[in-house]
Amino acid sequence: MQLHHIIESIQSTSIPILDTEICAKSYVPIDLSTSNTELKNLDITRPEVCQRYIDTVLLRTNGKVAFGGYLEHRNLYSDKSNFGSSGDAVRNIHLGIDFWCEAGTKVLVPLEGKVHSFQNNVAIGDYGPTIILEHTYNRISFYSLYGHLSVESLNGLFKGKVFRQGDFLATLGTVDINVNYAPHLHFQIIRDIQDKTGDYPGVCTSNTLEFYSQNCPNPNLLLKLKT
Ligand SMILES: [Zn+2]
Repeated sequence: MQLHHIIESIQSTSIPILDTEICAKSYVPIDLSTSNTELKNLDITRPEVCQRYIDTVLLRTNGKVAFGGYLEHRNLYSDKSNFGSSGDAVRNIHLGIDFWCEAGTKVLVPLEGKVHSFQNNVAIGDYGPTIILEHTYNRISFYSLYGHLSVESLNGLFKGKVFRQGDFLATLGTVDINVNYAPHLHFQIIRDIQDKTGDYPGVCTSNTLEFYSQNCPNPNLLLKLKT
């Protein structure tokens, strides 16, 4: 059975991944793709510019969390040296879902699992504090990655620590910690972790998209947020 089908079949209703005080109708979609004409004259690689655009979207939709971005082509990484800069080798296709909301917002565990690894990925444009959980469902193992967390989120973790669905996992980091983005959660599902620990690519190039889109299915198949 394909991971896409497995994660889709786990629960028929939506699964909260942030503080349950935030109601479902406060989650609003956001388009940060290169095709969004509203971004044409905005340099969203600057966290304060990106935040202003997020705030504009939240204000006009009466939302609290702007989310989206799976397989979105973005201009968000062009200033970061670790994303490449030559032709097809540019990594600009996003492999997770981002939840843009206030630093300090609680992150909840969407699905029972245990800690696979965690690490503070401190390079500019990386994830900052990151947690990876391992899940087993129908005898298939897969992973979920939580990036751009606060430093405190890594306290008390150890490999194998078990979390139940709905448990408090972490809080979102500030711009200086997360590393240089408007505050958000990067949430990604991974089939084959490829021996990586505490880190896994969250953005890919067009010539590796086929592999990564299979290995990292749309997290909303699990979460079932209305888009
Ligand atoms: Zn992301």
